[in-house]
Amino acid sequence: MTVGGNPWAAEIGRFVALLAGALVLGQLAGHPLEALLVAALAYAASLLLQLHRLEHWIRAGKKSHPPPARGIWSELYQQVHRLHLRARKRKRKLANALKRLRQSVAAFPDAAVILDGEDGIEWFNAGAGRLLGLKMPEDLGQRVTNLVRHPLFQDFLEGRGEPGAIEIPSPEDEHLVLSIALIRYGADQRLLLARDVSHLARLEQVRRDFVANVSHELRTPLTVITGYLETLEDEGDELPPVWQRSVQAMSEQANRMTHLVQDLLLLARLESDGDPASPHEPVAVPAILSGLEEELRLRSAGRHRIESSVDARLWLAGDAQQLRGVFNNLLENALQYTPDGGQISLRWYPDEAGAHFTVRDTGIGIAPQHISRLTERFFRVDAGRSRAGGGTGLGLAIVKHALSHHGAHLRIESAPGVGSSFTCDFPPARVLEPPDGDLEPGSIGEPRASAPARDS
Ligand code: ADP
Repeated sequence: MTVGGNPWAAEIGRFVALLAGALVLGQLAGHPLEALLVAALAYAASLLLQLHRLEHWIRAGKKSHPPPARGIWSELYQQVHRLHLRARKRKRKLANALKRLRQSVAAFPDAAVILDGEDGIEWFNAGAGRLLGLKMPEDLGQRVTNLVRHPLFQDFLEGRGEPGAIEIPSPEDEHLVLSIALIRYGADQRLLLARDVSHLARLEQVRRDFVANVSHELRTPLTVITGYLETLEDEGDELPPVWQRSVQAMSEQANRMTHLVQDLLLLARLESDGDPASPHEPVAVPAILSGLEEELRLRSAGRHRIESSVDARLWLAGDAQQLRGVFNNLLENALQYTPDGGQISLRWYPDEAGAHFTVRDTGIGIAPQHISRLTERFFRVDAGRSRAGGGTGLGLAIVKHALSHHGAHLRIESAPGVGSSFTCDFPPARVLEPPDGDLEPGSIGEPRASAPARDS
């Protein structure tokens, strides 16, 4: 019986009709209450039976069509069946999408590896097999750092070192250069992407070799030219005045070129020396700084107020010549870009993050948009001013490379018209104490300030 197509109304109607029929029959038999009770129990039993069938059908995986049923039960079976069909369709769609996604990532020429929070490998594509040497399925669940064992890679995964991407040789073929990037997603999952950039590395090598070879080839003719110019300058008084001026101009330009060639060769050498951990000899930084400070005072000739604060017990493990070049470059820049009457201060101090060398000046400063470009080769904010001061535009590029050989970074803060501060941050692993007896007395952490030098 259905009332208005509402299965609930039909079910209630059936229950009421059952009770009414039982009541009438019970009246006739003289036991109306017992008859009602039997009818209610029979209804409950039929409900239990239907529930049992439903549960059985669901447990069987809802594979077959719903069993025959009436009223509200038929409606219930149909609804569960419809939901099941809809879920199955969605699942099939998702599985297809996932299959297509995996196929496209698998066809990807680059390596893609999904890592969990512990660096364990959850999944990887065929590219990861080719470029990183990962093997399916035995490498699933392994820590990727056990399989790709380059120190730069370990630091990179732990978030140390340079941000962005790193370049390392492929563990599968050391002639391949891989660029590795890490993309974080979800709670603590990461997608590791590795790309073969060997052709770019080769091009970069060709460029470096070219610059180094040209610079090298220029050195000999320049030495000859400057030699003859020096001889001519020595005989300066005997030359006609117009020749004296010409020889002087030629000498200046030849010196500039010699400077440029020297800087280019130095940069080429720093770039080709790929091992960042190579220089490791004890370097007496305080002694180097005291020499440089003296030179700075001589060159300033009292035009600037110079202050210094040097920790005499702070040495470094590194390359003395490279470090001297770094400090000298920053001090020369401070002198060149600070007008007369300005102040230049240098500080050499330790803290828990390592050792730091800071040169601060009250010079012309640098606009914010130029700061990130200062370490590019030949970048100058004002090329004319730089050239006039004998600058090659390579100084800070050399500083950056020499520092990276020491695991150190350059930090620049500046404001136009206010001044600049250049800081070299050396990691704690590079910090050394001086060997006994190698102390400069009286200079531990004490600022050694001076009024502008008068006659040096
Ligand atoms: P340069 O030989 O031209 O000095 P660098 O590489 O040493 O080359 O410096 C690059 C540029 O950075 C300089 O041309 C100058 O514009 C700017 N610069 C460097 N140091 C300072 C400073 N202390 N104050 C202002 N500008 C600076």
